[in-house]
Amino acid sequence: MIPDFNETIFALSSGALPAGVAVVRLSGAATFQILNALVGTLPRPRFAGLRSIRSRDGVLLDTGLVVIFPGPASFTGEDCAEIHLHGGKAVVAALLSELGSFDGCRIAEAGEFSRRAFENGKLDLVEIEGLADLLAAETEMQRRLAAEQSFGRLSAVYDGWRERLLHARAMVEAELDFADEGDIPGSVSDRVWPDLSALAGEVRGQLEAERAGEIIRDGFKVVIAGSPNVGKSSLLNALVDREVAIVTEYAGTTRDVLHCELDIDGFAVHLFDTAGIRETDEAVEKEGIRRALGKIAEADLVLHLKDASAAVESVDLAYNGDAPVITVGTKIDAITASSPKQIYDLMISSAQRVGLDDLRQAILQVLREKTDVISLAIPSRIRQRQHLRDVLANVEEAVRSADIGLELRAEYLRRASDSLGRITGKIDVEAMLGKIFSDFCVGK
Ligand code: GDP
Repeated sequence: MIPDFNETIFALSSGALPAGVAVVRLSGAATFQILNALVGTLPRPRFAGLRSIRSRDGVLLDTGLVVIFPGPASFTGEDCAEIHLHGGKAVVAALLSELGSFDGCRIAEAGEFSRRAFENGKLDLVEIEGLADLLAAETEMQRRLAAEQSFGRLSAVYDGWRERLLHARAMVEAELDFADEGDIPGSVSDRVWPDLSALAGEVRGQLEAERAGEIIRDGFKVVIAGSPNVGKSSLLNALVDREVAIVTEYAGTTRDVLHCELDIDGFAVHLFDTAGIRETDEAVEKEGIRRALGKIAEADLVLHLKDASAAVESVDLAYNGDAPVITVGTKIDAITASSPKQIYDLMISSAQRVGLDDLRQAILQVLREKTDVISLAIPSRIRQRQHLRDVLANVEEAVRSADIGLELRAEYLRRASDSLGRITGKIDVEAMLGKIFSDFCVGK
């Protein structure tokens, strides 16, 4: 349901209580009137003023800082205000209950401030998605990626493309509409095709970076795989520095896929410990192995562990996916003369914490290769990528199909700019008309 934008909304915008300071935010037409009833005269816009905050029947609720942001120069584009008060539960509850007692003033729904910002043209959809990611960011790279989106860098790329598409469409439409009137040289639209080919190349470049965006935002999946008892759970525990997985000398202990998150040099890494792969008739273990194989198939990187201390060589992993595989020899503290003379990419001892840094560096190297992009202004969500694919398909079709007639090519371009408009939430019939009338002097 679309919330009622005529109402003034409020919410606790800061974190969990109790806290040193709590920030309550208001937005909507009645903001200043309500605030005036609570704190008396309002401070100058965008300057903090210390005020006593009183309920309408005169009870002192708290003293705190008040800042007002008159629309449209505010987050939501409406009149907004912030009240910074003491972060006690009862203090905040008293203020929220007082605010809720005003007519047409209610507690905001989830995301409603941002929704209003979008509706009022203050933020586009990409910026809003970036803002959500910025609030959820746990690692430095997630923060950087989200910042590119929330501060408008990615939107600027899309807006630039949109501008070029609109220009191209205006030229093509003008040729279609006015060609027989003699004002427009017949092949005017021919000039747009080279630029559209270049545009297709840029969109393709962004789509090539999509996996990088996804890895940075959603995390890099590293799966620890190998036969039972080679030291998989011990490695998981050693890398995260706590006892996540149960380690025993009995084969087949890990039945389900265990999952931990690591921060390696600012990248979010999902580490999965899987059931040891071997022939078995035991139903639960069989299911564990089925899940392990499923996880390995989804991996961005597989750590194939082999017991370097065992009397027999570990069997190879039947893996034929695309992800790189690092072969890790384990338990090097227990190697004896009878241990197999195998070559491994890396050798570790989880028990003695040897080789773990090298392993982290090896993971980081693959991670860097997979996220090696020039700019972080790249799509990171499926939604954005799907629309980008539509943009690309339609621009390519328009450029390629020189012999299908200008009307059809114009239609492909229209679809391309619709898809582009859907990424940022700007659909452009109005803009198109504006472009035709302003850019193109038809002389009539
Ligand atoms: P998983 O079945 O592959 O997960 O293997 P575990 O991590 O459960 O380990 C199997 C056995 O090997 C346990 O008895 C561990 O104590 C032992 N183990 C694991 N890592 C090391 C190591 O680095 N050195 C030695 N000496 N033993 C290890």
